[in-house]
Amino acid sequence: MSAKIIDHLKLYRLPWNLSDNAISWLEPTSMCNLACDGCYRENQKDGHKTFEQVKHELDIFQLKRNSDCISIAGGDPLLHPQIIEIVRDIKSRGLKPIINTNGHALTKNFLIELKSAGVFGFTFHVDSKQGRGGDWKGKNEIELNELRYQYAKMLADVGGIACSFNSTVYEDTIQHIPGMIDWAHKNIDIVNTMVFIAFRYIVPTMPFDWYAGGQKVDWQTIAYHTEKNRRVDILSTDILAKVQEQFPEFAPCAYLNGTEKVDSFKWLLTERVGTQKKIYGYLGSKFIELMMASYHFSTGKYLSYASTTNSKMGKSALLLLWPFDKGVRKAAIELLKNPLRLLKRTHLQSILFIQPVDFMQDGRQSMCDGCPDITVWNDDLVWSCRLEEVKSFGSFLRSVQK
Ligand code: SF4
Repeated sequence: MSAKIIDHLKLYRLPWNLSDNAISWLEPTSMCNLACDGCYRENQKDGHKTFEQVKHELDIFQLKRNSDCISIAGGDPLLHPQIIEIVRDIKSRGLKPIINTNGHALTKNFLIELKSAGVFGFTFHVDSKQGRGGDWKGKNEIELNELRYQYAKMLADVGGIACSFNSTVYEDTIQHIPGMIDWAHKNIDIVNTMVFIAFRYIVPTMPFDWYAGGQKVDWQTIAYHTEKNRRVDILSTDILAKVQEQFPEFAPCAYLNGTEKVDSFKWLLTERVGTQKKIYGYLGSKFIELMMASYHFSTGKYLSYASTTNSKMGKSALLLLWPFDKGVRKAAIELLKNPLRLLKRTHLQSILFIQPVDFMQDGRQSMCDGCPDITVWNDDLVWSCRLEEVKSFGSFLRSVQK
């Protein structure tokens, strides 16, 4: 089954660009305590940057790019010995610190310390190909919902910290996405966002030669390559089709296009509203446009993560904004079908599909236009998903049709 055809021109194009974006991506360390399949960063034991280096990179961001939040990634940032100071420093600059972690090193006390330093949210990377041991060894995506719940509950118990999850999507795990989305619905009170990122690697069947400047490069020296032939072309619309098999009403509202393919959905965003029992509806493009524009008007920035307080304001959003958006209107009607529903807390939840680099037939690489996960390299802004190329070869690689 394929996704109901979506027309990019009917969705809201997120207004993010290189100099004014919702998100920026900081990597204080490349050290990690797991070895995820599909990771695009080389795990270095001595991979911590100094606090001075981290502050310098934040200075570069602030010099070059308007940003609402800083995604603190890696490696696993919780392994950095000065992560508390880093979070505090980001907060003191008026930016929202979001920690992207596998969660392995997180304890309740550590979380409380991070909260008092000003952490705004967490994105936990949990999927079945991370080589997790102990109770989680060999568990599939659905069985891992139990681990996701433990992290979400830990955050909810401390309170006031936004909770997101991301998972890499492989050809053999795409089948589980509807089940994960269903789990997210049942925990809509404590899970704010779910992100699904299609797996990308360099594989032997790619019909390209690789060049750094004028120099040919052996594809097997590229950090993110595999000798096996694996599926590396899952699209956001493939994920959408899988989800719509179980939830036909599931409808995205916003996107980022590709730099080389305007009607590709590099980021495909869905906003839904409801309670743990019932999803009232899917919000439309005007809703998200209103959110982005009003937030930018009042703060000068594009919104990234909503606060836990705002995520609980689903009912107010429906009752106030119904004149402006068809999706909001439909959800408001559903809410009002039973007046008792007005007594219940109603939550907003975001579901995001990400489709990283796509290769055009002629070798052009289509990136996310307005890439939010831009990081700093040699005082310049570069795609974090391709950082290993500049680190190893001094420039981004060009793929040229053989
Ligand atoms: S271009 Fe790469 S780093 Fe940027 S958002 Fe897309 S996948 Fe992430």
